[in-house]
Amino acid sequence: MLPKIDKRKIVCGWVLCCSLFVIAQENYPQETFQSPMDIPLILAGTFGELRSNHFHAGIDIKTQQRQGLPIYAIGDGSVTRIKIAHWGYGKVLYVAHPNGYTSVYGHLQKFAPEIEAYIKKVQYQKRSYQVEVFPDLGEVTVKKGQVIAYSGNTGGSSGPHLHFEIRSSISEKPTNPLLYGFEVRDATNPVLEEVYAYPLSKNARVNQSTDKVELNFKRQKDGTFLADKVSALGTIGFGFKGFDRQDLAANKNGIYSVQLSVNGKIYTDYDFETFSFAESRYINTLIDYEHFGAYRQRIQQCFKTPGNRLGIYNTLYNDGKINIQEGMSYSVTLLLRDLGGNETKIIIPVEGKNEPVKIEKEEEKTDEYLVAKKNNNYDLGAATVYFPANTFYKDFYIDLKKGTDTITIHNSRVPAHRNFTLTFDVSKYSKEERKQLFIARLDKDLDANYASTYKRGNTFTTRTRNLGTYTLAKDTIPPTIRPKNFKEKQWLNNYSYLSLRISDDLSGVKSYSATLNGDWILMEYEPKTRTLTYNFDDKILDKTQCELQVTVSDNVGNTTIYKSTFYRK
Ligand SMILES: [Zn+2]
Repeated sequence: MLPKIDKRKIVCGWVLCCSLFVIAQENYPQETFQSPMDIPLILAGTFGELRSNHFHAGIDIKTQQRQGLPIYAIGDGSVTRIKIAHWGYGKVLYVAHPNGYTSVYGHLQKFAPEIEAYIKKVQYQKRSYQVEVFPDLGEVTVKKGQVIAYSGNTGGSSGPHLHFEIRSSISEKPTNPLLYGFEVRDATNPVLEEVYAYPLSKNARVNQSTDKVELNFKRQKDGTFLADKVSALGTIGFGFKGFDRQDLAANKNGIYSVQLSVNGKIYTDYDFETFSFAESRYINTLIDYEHFGAYRQRIQQCFKTPGNRLGIYNTLYNDGKINIQEGMSYSVTLLLRDLGGNETKIIIPVEGKNEPVKIEKEEEKTDEYLVAKKNNNYDLGAATVYFPANTFYKDFYIDLKKGTDTITIHNSRVPAHRNFTLTFDVSKYSKEERKQLFIARLDKDLDANYASTYKRGNTFTTRTRNLGTYTLAKDTIPPTIRPKNFKEKQWLNNYSYLSLRISDDLSGVKSYSATLNGDWILMEYEPKTRTLTYNFDDKILDKTQCELQVTVSDNVGNTTIYKSTFYRK
């Protein structure tokens, strides 16, 4: 177990920023691990950074826009998990170290030869590119500084980089890799972009508004910021938008530590030293999701909303909410800190004033008020939707549009924590028609996106966390398969790999397989580039004339078979 640091011990002034790092570091080994790369650590992402439905569980190390850079084991250890997936971490390696930590290396291009051979064997056995294995402790051992893989861009990665994590081996909780003494240059203060005040109680107001208000602020001579005086009454809270930057790169990364205090008393203090994967999705309660839904910008709320079950708080007084009384003055301080000892501070003066409300927050009311803690079932004509209790974080007026084909379940501005079930009645379609039909979610441009469709009797069902518009769509066109780097009847003696482009226009590629002279061969699938790749090293060919056959099916079962002959000696 990792002891949680009690930051209340830290009081004020310069001691504060230096202590933050030192105290946090004390809990983690400083000399044990070496860097996973032999290039300067320039970060494209930090630990705890706010991402879509999750906090970033590691650091993203930039690899100079290249792939194939060596990745080193950060310490002696044993490979405990190897996974290859189309999305997520792509090709990823987990190494358990004797000191109780596991290092994780993601989006790899390939593994070092021995590990590559180990996993290829599994892939050929299971006849699948996507595999996951858990070698026994001691089965695949590595030494500190040994090359274990090469950097890449596999999985849900939008550019070449190494995703690197250090987890507690027992709890599997990811910890901030910057607490282990790796050298990452950082002399840049966190950047505060926007500050907001939120009226939270029924009659609360801020600057005569019952809606949240953005505050103006200016930099002062001493480098701190000062906001314009706020007039308020009732229970209020604060939020901000900001980012942090390390040296040597312009990337906007996440902020390590956030602290809000009122008249010197800490109300809210949280940081990204560690968190658990189970709580990661509650990020949707830390950010102002309504704002995010509307503007795709993440405001971090310094108060805890009722649905928020995050354990990242070191201190939370009155849920970070401030009760403002008429005639009283308050000095609110927001302090943002990184692990390089840099900090940004803003002071927000608040006056308790009973002024008339000029701007009312408008709540969109509909016929249906959804109570989050209950099960809710709605008949929408073409489909029914079932929300199990606690699908949502709070009660709200749900906007439902019935239809004979297309139905709408509210909009994407409300986050769902759990899956809900959407069931379409397909009894009006013939058995033959049903084959090519699937449940589709319509995006903003009304493009149909395949939703995993379970077909049973007269119903199609999908389980999803995405609110929005759904319909039944029909996919009649089979996938396409085209060779990328070779032609029919070609001599391929100098080729090291075969590459093909596969795609499906509507429901998407579900499965693919290939044989060479009748034997199953491994095709590596990269969905981002729609490319299948076969590596000639995999198999010793005993014939000059080779028959390649590639089969691709889409999500409703339309199938294309591609055949080609080539020669190789
Ligand atoms: Zn990452």
